[in-house]
Amino acid sequence: MEARLHETREAWLTDVAHRMAPISQQLAAPLPARLRIAIGFTSGGQRSKRIGECWDNQCSEDHSFEIFIRPDLGESRDLMPMQVVEILGHELVHAAVGIAAGHGREFRRVAKGIGLTLNKSSLPRAIGSHEQP
Ligand SMILES: [Zn+2]
Repeated sequence: MEARLHETREAWLTDVAHRMAPISQQLAAPLPARLRIAIGFTSGGQRSKRIGECWDNQCSEDHSFEIFIRPDLGESRDLMPMQVVEILGHELVHAAVGIAAGHGREFRRVAKGIGLTLNKSSLPRAIGSHEQP
């Protein structure tokens, strides 16, 4: 039987976030101390084309940033695990620079710094509409 490194998808995503944290720190955009990553439909629901969301820490009672990654991405034959990581990375940049920064200059600086491609077509669906509502 093949050993499983992570019990859940959330554990895998959280591990990826921990591995990205030093890079984010080096870019003077540390990940927030309070951050949760969940597999779940975004605020637009199942029919929405949103693939991920990052909610501001003012939205949760304990002031955690909340990242949601769609649960059905793994069912897509066209989507590779590294693309899921790219989606997560994108949302982590939002958490690092703050939601208010949008996709502006600081967002692009950090995104580029962690190795994200800034070409929207590199992601499976348009990614501009995935922020908190
Ligand atoms: Zn974004």
